[in-house]
Amino acid sequence: MGKSSKDKRDIYYRKAKEEGWRARSAFKLIQIDETYQIFDGVKRVVDLCAAPGSWSQVLSRRIYGDGSDPQVKIVAVDIQEMAPLKGVVQIKGDITKLETAQQIISHFDGGLADLIISDGAPDVTGLHDIDFYGQSQLILSALNITTHTLKIGGTFVAKMFKGDDMSLMFSQLKLFFKHVSFVKPKSSRESSLENFVLCRDYCPPQNYQPEIIDPSLENHDHLVNKSNEQDYINKLVVPFVAIGDLKGFDK
Ligand code: SAM
Repeated sequence: MGKSSKDKRDIYYRKAKEEGWRARSAFKLIQIDETYQIFDGVKRVVDLCAAPGSWSQVLSRRIYGDGSDPQVKIVAVDIQEMAPLKGVVQIKGDITKLETAQQIISHFDGGLADLIISDGAPDVTGLHDIDFYGQSQLILSALNITTHTLKIGGTFVAKMFKGDDMSLMFSQLKLFFKHVSFVKPKSSRESSLENFVLCRDYCPPQNYQPEIIDPSLENHDHLVNKSNEQDYINKLVVPFVAIGDLKGFDK
């Protein structure tokens, strides 16, 4: 879809053109970093739902730089193709699918990420509860991948929509991170329900074993039926699966 004249008047749209960013979204990540220094000391990053690639561009410019640090590893994932970027390994895949999670994990063989960012957005229907549920599924998938690839103490940033369940989301994420806050960079349009959850200091529950959960919950019997201690610990964090709601269907 072409840009409307309203978009073209937008300061960040124009600035993105001038500075060569693929999308105005670049400024959201830049502003989150300027305020919270999420890039400090970061060498390994996963950018989930990355196309057309403005966040990956930010990572390429700010973290990969001239490519002189061999420890830097940036992995970007999206269901859509995106043009190549210096220092960014791309995976074309759906983050809600187990095989994509496994592919990402395989890139971090023996090492873990310092930072995982996710700007995923489902196709918007305009029906708030359904959109919120779709967004929640993406966050769950991102968190699934995060529990396999983020180092203890690492940072996770994900887009979410403002909704009734923000306090539920907050408590669920607090199971995994010491600090959780919601941030809205000034480049995110005021009229938009978009927010970003900033989770710092990854610290999963003691003895928690990451497992790849099917976010559609079609195959979740194993989460319900087992009774040994490990399953119990993992079951304690299962409420995360229930984020989002479909109560709008009955309205
Ligand atoms: N951060 C990007 C940037 O700065 O260019 C913009 C991301 S865009 C708002 C949202 C992206 O989420 C789209 O490219 C879409 O293809 C991707 N997406 C949505 N669902 C996805 C899924 N299940 N798996 C992977 N990518 C997905």
